[in-house]
Amino acid sequence: MLSFSKWLRQRPRGFRHGTHPEAHKDTTSGLPIEHMPMVAEYSLHLAQHAGAPSRPCVGPGERVRRGQTIAEPDGFRSVALHAPVAGTIRAIEPRLHPAGGLSPALILRTDFLADQSTMAATVPEPGDRDGTLAAIQRAGVVGLGGAAYPAHAKMRIPKDKRVDVVILNGAECEPYLTADHRVMLERAGAVVGGLTVIMELVGAERGTIGVEVNKPDAIDALSRACRGDPRMQVVPLSVKYPEGAKQMLIKAVTGQRVPLGGRSFDTHVTIHNVGTAAALYDACTAGLPMIDRVVTVTGPEIVRPANVRVSIGTPVSALLEHCGGLRPAARRLVMGGGMMGHSQVSLEVPTVKAFGGVLALPGTAQRTPEAPCIRCGKCLDACAMFLNPARLATLSRAGDVEGLKQANVQACFECGSCAFVCPSYLPLTELIRTGKVLARRTGS
Ligand code: SF4
Ligand code: SF4
Repeated sequence: MLSFSKWLRQRPRGFRHGTHPEAHKDTTSGLPIEHMPMVAEYSLHLAQHAGAPSRPCVGPGERVRRGQTIAEPDGFRSVALHAPVAGTIRAIEPRLHPAGGLSPALILRTDFLADQSTMAATVPEPGDRDGTLAAIQRAGVVGLGGAAYPAHAKMRIPKDKRVDVVILNGAECEPYLTADHRVMLERAGAVVGGLTVIMELVGAERGTIGVEVNKPDAIDALSRACRGDPRMQVVPLSVKYPEGAKQMLIKAVTGQRVPLGGRSFDTHVTIHNVGTAAALYDACTAGLPMIDRVVTVTGPEIVRPANVRVSIGTPVSALLEHCGGLRPAARRLVMGGGMMGHSQVSLEVPTVKAFGGVLALPGTAQRTPEAPCIRCGKCLDACAMFLNPARLATLSRAGDVEGLKQANVQACFECGSCAFVCPSYLPLTELIRTGKVLARRTGS
């Protein structure tokens, strides 16, 4: 346990390189989580997680209860999907996905007169490891930090690996987002309870929660919740982007570096998001499915910024309306964070498990014209993976697959730092993303 006064004397840990984009968090960091009321219709994408999309187990015309399974996991790297309200399945049809493109979704019409209490599953027996992992998969729990990786799959440790330390990621280094901050503050007990569940399932001896020092109230709340368990510790982190990325977080907390192309297991560590930990706690202690998540709705062009617990599948238009609507100068809507978020082409996309932010931004859709590279080296300084973004972008433009492989293009995790600092406005991240696809297609 780390008291706040001790923390103040302790130097925050960090990593080399990275950037300092403006945080834009003050508007919402002090706002308690509010609950969004039900809406008339929900679109529930079957592809809400990394891995195989869920398989529908209900059809059009069928009545469902709140929390009922409406799609089953389709294989090990897949999870169940649940009805966020009681109502009737109207259709299964392609809908716009916030990550891009059309994908099949269950359309659920709300029955406002039905019993809206949540169906809970049977809670697994303490010590039943396989039963607990199966319950987590059936509860539809995925990583809430953005990757949406199925939580149960992440906790199946390969036989030749071991985990000594579980790190909970409470960095929330993306500009604008404060959803994790509020969860750490308002549900510190559930976050620490989830950490205990993960430690037991992976056999780890220690649990660490990494939090950037710009959230002292969250550090204090978590430190109090950890009190009495000497295996747990809250680690204050420097405020830097991308502090929450796997490689940077492990470096900051343990001092170890994940080898290029390696996994966190290679350093005997596994990482989960703080919101995921709270959801795991709910699933394992109360049998609750993942039917909602906390989303920060913010940006200069939203009338009433807020942290909102919103049902999965809610149309973004309804969420914006709940927050007072858009201001006239709004030109861009982003789902996710200010650096890695996805620009949207329609307000009718629904919320999905992966995205913890909806940002309403000004500015034109037109991009600032790019200029030639002036070899300033700023992109090299920004890249926390020690890559050469300018060179990778040039190789990508030239279609030089061998060069891209030799320059470790796959080590780029598309954090956007290089493009953010480039004074020539070169679309470095997009070019490198294209380079990764090129190299993958040719067997990188
Ligand atoms: S986007 Fe890739 S190359 Fe650019 S800074 Fe991030 S990790 Fe480095
Ligand atoms: S930051 Fe931009 S201009 Fe500077 S070296 Fe990198 S690519 Fe070139």
